[in-house]
Parts: sequence; structure tokens; C-alpha cells
Amino acid sequence: MTLRGVIAIDGPSGSGKSSVSKAIARELGMRYLDTGAMYRAVAYGAALEGIDVEDTAAVERFSREMDLPMPTDPDDQRIVVNGTDVTDAIRTSAVSLIVSAVATNLGVRRELVRRQQQIIAGGEIVLEGRDTTTVVAPDAEVRILITAHPEARVARRTAELHDEVTSATMSQTVTEIVDRDAKDATVTNFHTAADGVVTLDTSHLDLAGSIDAVLQIIADSDREQAP
Ligand code: C5P
Repeated sequence: MTLRGVIAIDGPSGSGKSSVSKAIARELGMRYLDTGAMYRAVAYGAALEGIDVEDTAAVERFSREMDLPMPTDPDDQRIVVNGTDVTDAIRTSAVSLIVSAVATNLGVRRELVRRQQQIIAGGEIVLEGRDTTTVVAPDAEVRILITAHPEARVARRTAELHDEVTSATMSQTVTEIVDRDAKDATVTNFHTAADGVVTLDTSHLDLAGSIDAVLQIIADSDREQAP
């Protein structure tokens, strides 16, 4: 059975999946769910309460008990965990460095996937994150894996994180995203497309080109599914 009105987009860091997913939700008047923000909120929220991110049982407990009302408006992505606004704090390099410890915690994954499935059950949503096409929404109407060459991904993230794209800032980013992807790959497969998932390589596309390509994939899949 197909989960109507659900578009799932996954891919590695710097593939452009967040910017593209948000734009698609806006364009189609759909809701938007950033699943990565949930892993980041657990990492930061647990650290705020003095929990060691390596303490798997304590972090799992935190994830089950936390209050994390996830925003689904693509233009209002304020993230609040247990009453604290962590919108900016969860995007720092410090959180990027500890988030894999949380993402490889299978108890946390079970809990976050449960929460994500509850949110998408309402339909009309673009959901973005590494295991969304395979674990969270394998029955989504449209499933897309956005990829890009490592060089393109590193250049994009460097431009996002630093004022200047120099060899020093590039190598700092390589450590951050390539290492994180390697750790994440131990629990989620986001480099190769599962059956029925369309791959889009954005190495040579800018944001507008990537958005057009995704809209085309959605239109093609609508045609295929039309009675
Ligand atoms: O997408 P973003 O870079 O914000 O994701 C942060 C981290 O959350 C990823 O590096 C990964 O460890 C984890 N994640 C995940 N499964 C998802 C989304 C994110 O494991 N569906």
C-alpha cells in the first residue's frame, strides 16, 4: 500500500537535501519534517541535562521522555526541547561531532522513528533524513536519494559554515562531514538507493536546478501512478 501525500528524501551531508526538501514543501504547499533536527535535539538536550552521550540507556530514556513538539511549517523551524529553544545551538560543530553517538543508539532510533511515523501519518508532508526512504517511510508515494560527489558536498557545507572557502576551512569541513557520514553509515544506508528509490545526483546542479529536478521526479511518479 502506498502512503499517499508523503515524499521522502534522503542523502548524505552536504547533498543539499535540506534546502531542496524545504523548497519542495513550500512549492507544493505541503508540511516539512527535518528528521536530522530530532537526532540533533536529542544529542544537545541530553548534554544539557548532563547525560553522557555514550551512556546509551540514559540517552534512550531521555529520548522517550523528552518533550519535542516538531515543527512542520517549512518557514518556521524553531526547535524546542523540554521548553528550551535549541534552534541555533543544534547546528553548531560541537553538536555535529556528538550526534553520531546518538544516531547509532538503536533505542533512540526506534523512538524517533516511532515519533516520525506518527507525524507523517497525517499525510501531505515532505520528510527528509538518512533513513526516511528505507525505514521511516518505505511506502511513501515518492522516494528520492539525493547524492553529490564528496568534493561538491564539502564545498557546499564549507560555504554554509564559514565565511570563506579556503583550503583550511575546506579541510576542517572534510573532517566534520566525511567522518560523520562514515559513522552514520554503520546504521543507515544513505549512499545507495533501495528498490523503488530514484537517485538524483546534484553534483553539477545549483539549488534551483536541484529543485526543478525533484519536481520533475514527482511529476513523473504522479503520471506513473495515475489510474
Ligand atoms: O541531516 P543532519 O545533518 O541534520 O542530521 C544530523 C545527524 O542525525 C546525521 O549525521 C545522522 O547522524 C542523524 N540522522 C539519522 N537519521 C535521520 C536523520 C539524521 O541518523 N533520518
